[in-house]
Amino acid sequence: MSSIREEDLRFREVAEAFKSMESITARTQLMLILVRLLKKTPPSVIDKVVYIIQGKLGPEWKDIPELGVGEKLLEKAIAMAYKTSESTVDRLYKQIGDLGTVAERLANQYRSMVKQKGIGLLAFMGEEERPLTVARVYDTLMRVAYAQGEGSRDVKLKLLAGLLADAEPLEAKYIVRFIEGRIRVGIGDATVLDALAVAYGGSAQARNIIERAYNLRADLGEIARLLVLEGVESLKKITPTIGIPIRPMLAERGRDPGEILRKVGGKALVEYKYDGERAQIHKDGNRVIIFSRRLEDITRMYPDVVEMVRRSVKSNAAIIEGEIVAIDPETMELKPFQELMHRKRKHDIHRIMREVPVAVFLFDALYNEGEDLTSKPLLVRREALEKAVETQETFKLADSIVTGDPDELWKFFLKATEEGAEGVMVKAIHDKSYYVAGVRGWLWVKLKKDYKSEMIDTVDLVVVGAFYGRGKRGGKLSSLLMAAYDPKTDTFKTVCKVATGFTDEELERMQEMLKPLIIKNKHPRVDSRIEPDVWITPEVVAEILGAELTLSPLHTCCLGMQRPGVGISIRFPRFVRWRPDKRPEDATTQEELYEMYIKQLKKLEEPQTV
Ligand code: ATP
Repeated sequence: MSSIREEDLRFREVAEAFKSMESITARTQLMLILVRLLKKTPPSVIDKVVYIIQGKLGPEWKDIPELGVGEKLLEKAIAMAYKTSESTVDRLYKQIGDLGTVAERLANQYRSMVKQKGIGLLAFMGEEERPLTVARVYDTLMRVAYAQGEGSRDVKLKLLAGLLADAEPLEAKYIVRFIEGRIRVGIGDATVLDALAVAYGGSAQARNIIERAYNLRADLGEIARLLVLEGVESLKKITPTIGIPIRPMLAERGRDPGEILRKVGGKALVEYKYDGERAQIHKDGNRVIIFSRRLEDITRMYPDVVEMVRRSVKSNAAIIEGEIVAIDPETMELKPFQELMHRKRKHDIHRIMREVPVAVFLFDALYNEGEDLTSKPLLVRREALEKAVETQETFKLADSIVTGDPDELWKFFLKATEEGAEGVMVKAIHDKSYYVAGVRGWLWVKLKKDYKSEMIDTVDLVVVGAFYGRGKRGGKLSSLLMAAYDPKTDTFKTVCKVATGFTDEELERMQEMLKPLIIKNKHPRVDSRIEPDVWITPEVVAEILGAELTLSPLHTCCLGMQRPGVGISIRFPRFVRWRPDKRPEDATTQEELYEMYIKQLKKLEEPQTV
């Protein structure tokens, strides 16, 4: 008889699901396994199961400390758990190349040895009585993460060794993989949302409701818990909450002022598109939190902005959005986005703060004094923003005009770019111009500076593979296989190979960045006809500029959309910069790329007037 309480789940169930998923390439099968696992999971641990599937202990913004377990410590814990030497673990690791499999094998050997000898080790006596549960695994890993300061290495070691000693071989494998940050069974958030809808949604509309809730409260574990405990209807009532980031609303891209104005419904609010870092600012009394575009807590990087918020935001409780931009404080001139990178440094932030001064240009209000503004039209939100903020020179509203005239829009665009902005954002102001969290739609359209090339805009692509260079670049990864995101299948589809645009410095950084992401086989979320020298876990995003979009038989992006058997690629692609502010799912999508292609075709047919 199992001693597991009704409200917990054996960790073995999770490990077995991971194992089955690993050998699968079809997404439908993957979904089935995931749905089965979620259905089996009791409400009390559904959030934990979802986090473990995501390979983390909670959402990024929760600031849960890193596990702080390096390879050496992990090897030590494995040796301790299975009463073997560290050198044995190390040797096996070198042979097998995967520490998870090493743990699995050693656990197996140890178990058979114990059984043979009939030693009544407590850990094994308990195999039936004390099986690992999701709660125990999760809670122990949390304790490992929170063990900090003097003596914490020892604490971490003992906690891990204890956990592994009680784990079945398969469980040990995935615990070790989790600790290494390598739960790579190929599941993105979009797939978890699909699976939750199937398992607990009850109807076809459920997927949208669940997704909307997740967009407003970016914590997938918490959304799963609410869904299971209170049902899909309860998710409809979710409103913004201070301290929990809202997934940002995003813009489509446009080229022709007249066409853009038509798309947004005539008259529009046109604002400068500043080239900085997006900031979602939450204020509750004196407490201020700043979330980045990818919803990480970046408050630490901007103590000056925190002060500005305290001084200038009159509301007691508010969530507002703006762009943080590096400036020259003497002239208030805008500086390029790269300047802000210095702020990423961990130490000396107060010195860097003086060296790289910033200003904030606000453009939206999502919540104010208890009121959810996301379902209000833009001009109502803008008015609330104006009321909530007492502006100062370095903390003010984005420069803007309201217009329905393409010429006026064009002139404003020229003024914006002349003053150092990237272009303009054209935003719908009709009755339904809501803040649609997490969605890229035609309510906001960006019009950016022309890069003096045929391609309308740069694209953001994900590194999914790499090739070694020759000659001077011999032995170094020097060209990259890049992919666009397809949200429908939650996969990354290749678009081009990029080999130019890297400075020597950039190339060095690239080695460091990519090495830990190298994997033996193609990642299950990657769709490619090209075989690179090494496969890379899709995590890193780069901005790419090219001469034009072309049909290509080699690449899988937009495959068959324009012509059977043929995809779309970029001619003469060139690296522009890394985009650490973007998650792989924020990359340019297949649909967007296709739209760019169609626009390019049209452009060839009818010459532009502007
Ligand atoms: P890009 O790749 O062009 O920088 P993106 O993919 O990060 O854009 P988009 O939705 O395409 O996101 O463009 C909106 C981004 O522009 C926002 O994320 C924000 O950081 C920035 N931005 C600057 N000024 C504004 C503004 N006035 N209104 C909205 N967003 C603005």
